[in-house]
Amino acid sequence: MKQIALKYALSDRPNADDFTLVDAPAPPCPDGGVVLRVVHLSLDPYIGSRLRGRHMGEPAPAPMIAPIPGGVVGQVIESRTAAFAPGDWAHSTEGAWAEQVALPGHAARKLDPRLAPLGAHAGVLGMPGLTAWAGITQLAQVRPGDVVLVDAAAGAVGGAAGQIARAMGAKKVIGVAGGPQKCALVEEIYGFDVCIDYRAPHWEDALDAACAGSPPSVHFENVSVAMLTAALVRMAPYGRAILCGLVDQYHASAPPPQIPAGLIIGKRAQLHGLVVYDFYPRWSEYIAWAAPLLKTGQLRFQEDRVTGLQNAPALFGKLMRGDNVGKAVVTVSAE
Ligand code: NDP
Repeated sequence: MKQIALKYALSDRPNADDFTLVDAPAPPCPDGGVVLRVVHLSLDPYIGSRLRGRHMGEPAPAPMIAPIPGGVVGQVIESRTAAFAPGDWAHSTEGAWAEQVALPGHAARKLDPRLAPLGAHAGVLGMPGLTAWAGITQLAQVRPGDVVLVDAAAGAVGGAAGQIARAMGAKKVIGVAGGPQKCALVEEIYGFDVCIDYRAPHWEDALDAACAGSPPSVHFENVSVAMLTAALVRMAPYGRAILCGLVDQYHASAPPPQIPAGLIIGKRAQLHGLVVYDFYPRWSEYIAWAAPLLKTGQLRFQEDRVTGLQNAPALFGKLMRGDNVGKAVVTVSAE
């Protein structure tokens, strides 16, 4: 089978040229585990940090040998556990950029293919969607009347966060995203009330206008301390801020600016750090909640999708530059 490996150890932001497609033996099925034929592969920002050994202490994969780690949606082709039979559909966050992956049974979750298009399990019903749900419903506990601000709002997490906030009764949802194409997606498809293009001149005035009379009571941060600060400045007293990601920082050489402690005190704000791993045991609960919203169109998603494993590096380079529009997904084989 084919898989993708790093050509060399990385010391900078990954780009498409850092990867190579290599032949590898088909993986044997472990005792108590399964082998999946990979159908959809999820590309996520944290993998960029992981490839440099900068994510939660997890080691970088060995160049030219180990496949790149990644979330997968696939079909069971071999099983040595009673929990799965050949033909079953499954999702795992512990897959790889490969045509086949072997997994211990506990690392695979069975999917019901009737719930949603299979690719949705890489994004809105997958790890990014669970992250958004965890932050909005469990940590910020968004309720009717909240005003919710979300950045990287065109992305998989941000787009879902705003829509989930709306479903929880938020009276206004404000997005921030880079460029008119992303902002159109956020407003027209995801249904945010307004999206501020932070690459446009005077964007901070536009954010002021969006928050005038309705200061955010909840902020969902995906990007940077600078953006968190811009949100806190405009936040209502006793607001809640979710620190989900600092993607602008992942490949920076300088440490991030300090969190604005004085502002947090002055606003009486609560900050919640979010790690989605804590919510993996609640995945079924999230899917049971979200799948009906997908069916009714209250939860919508957009994919930035390519077909063919060999095209994963180019899409990943795009994600690393922040040029993706929607969830980055690679279709590796036909459903
Ligand atoms: P996205 O699809 O949102 O992609 C990242 C987006 O971040 C880009 O499209 C870009 O959007 C924006 N961005 C701003 N600055 C940069 C930069 N310097 N480099 C790259 N991108 C930049 O990704 P996801 O929706 O998958 O993830 C969003 C955030 O959530 C990330 O920070 C991710 O790490 C985090 N996350 C955290 C989890 C947790 O457990 N805490 C779990 C899952 C994700 P724009 O042009 O609009 O700025």
